[in-house]
Amino acid sequence: QEDFFKNVISHAKEYGYIFASSEIYDGLSAVYDYGQNGAELKKNIKDYWWKSMVQLHQNIVGLDAAILMHPTTWKASGHVDAFNDPLIDNKDSKKRYRADVLVEDYAEKINQKAQKEIAKAKKRFGDKFNEEEFVTTNPRVLRYKKEEKEILERLAKSLTDEDLADVKALIEELEIACPESGSKNWTDVKQFNLMFGTKLGASADSATDLYLRPETAQGIFVNFSNVQKTGRMKIPFGIAQIGKAFRNEIVARQFIFRQREFEQMEMQFFVRPGEELKWFEHWKETRQNWHASLGLGEENYRFHDHEKMAHYANAATDIEFNFPFGFKELEGIHSRTDFDLKAHEEHSGKKLRFYDPEMKENYVPYVIETSIGLDRMFLAVFSASLKEEELEGGTSRTVLKLPAVLAPTKVAVLPLVKKDGLPELAHEIIEELKWDFRVQYDEKDAIGRRYRRQDAAGTPLCITVDHDSLEDKKVTVRFRDSMEQKRVAITELKEIIQQEVDF
Ligand code: ATP
Repeated sequence: QEDFFKNVISHAKEYGYIFASSEIYDGLSAVYDYGQNGAELKKNIKDYWWKSMVQLHQNIVGLDAAILMHPTTWKASGHVDAFNDPLIDNKDSKKRYRADVLVEDYAEKINQKAQKEIAKAKKRFGDKFNEEEFVTTNPRVLRYKKEEKEILERLAKSLTDEDLADVKALIEELEIACPESGSKNWTDVKQFNLMFGTKLGASADSATDLYLRPETAQGIFVNFSNVQKTGRMKIPFGIAQIGKAFRNEIVARQFIFRQREFEQMEMQFFVRPGEELKWFEHWKETRQNWHASLGLGEENYRFHDHEKMAHYANAATDIEFNFPFGFKELEGIHSRTDFDLKAHEEHSGKKLRFYDPEMKENYVPYVIETSIGLDRMFLAVFSASLKEEELEGGTSRTVLKLPAVLAPTKVAVLPLVKKDGLPELAHEIIEELKWDFRVQYDEKDAIGRRYRRQDAAGTPLCITVDHDSLEDKKVTVRFRDSMEQKRVAITELKEIIQQEVDF
């Protein structure tokens, strides 16, 4: 697992997907830059989300709010007082950790033990294996599951300010060692606010303290009435936004999974009070279908319903993904009640209400939120697509099987040789295709090597131009996943590519 994760990181660098930020200065912790291919993949994920959330819904519209907001926003939203993570230091190694993450990692280790037992039994019993029966009867698996559940329940209970001492006790009781040094010498657990502060204005006296937004959602809430009135939106309706958010994460690790600067794709859906749980279920299912449509493997997803809710929610679930380091949160779906709009009403003195003509009533709408980290989605797509395949004849290939709709380059056009007019014909084809698809030209090395290079970069189609092409106006199309090759007329190319890469 660890080796695979290392492969993911080095592959992302080697193929121009992700670089450490300011790498020539040795990088900046937990900040990353997206390279030539990464920028395209990221943009394609955004487009795929935007199209399905906004373009396909008559009652969902977009927004692009500023990163800097009036400071009272964060007072109203609760972030000034409650956007904290529990921090613990190891006295010997002088390293800092998130106390809850330490405990969760421990629980995950126990879960992995259970998974190992299941995998072993699967191997042993073959076709006769009944997983459901096994996990509900095998004493070892039952014990692991119970232990994991108890630890997480205790953690959930003791995350309030007053109970932080219990978290420390839990860490000590579980004998969680500081991963680097093995030492178990911990400080008390403290709350740490995650917002990045900055200042507006030049002079020290008149400067206003601001925060870089820690989530995009509040930009939507403060614009609720602007959008509702100017867009003449009727409830139920949604506002969607993609944008940067900043969090001064205590432990920033796991590559782009937990960064200090990242992007969110959020949609806040405003509904009648009392109808929120129906819509919560609706969005759970809709978001699940969105993920399924990308074909990253159903087994890589699971829902984690929250028993302990954030202060603003009355129902919450995480969509977790099987990242190279285990199942972790990819997307959150929350029923946020009328908490945010009401809080902004109170702090601003402005009404944030909707007059419902059917009910003949003015009310503060309830909100269902779907919030997915763009960078986490990137990591999910990238890591689930990276495969090492054994081929006939004892060879192997590295292939990045990105969903074609998301692939940075859709087509590579390759002249078989660098002479005899083949490059010219290849460029003519590119001129035709470039209006609809991102196309790349490559003439260096033998054709087999070029195919492998495109496989590893994630390009779903290669078009090879050979000597016959000059006569019969046909080319060879090679498909990345099946490695199948087809001879087709140049005039058919557009349709063939379209079929492969369509939304
Ligand atoms: P976590 O518990 O992993 O810190 P969270 O519950 O704080 O995440 P939310 O506040 O619900 O996350 O944010 C919504 C989404 O934003 C998350 O599901 C995740 O995909 C993304 N996200 C949150 N924090 C980060 C981060 N530091 N780096 C990258 N993506 C993030």
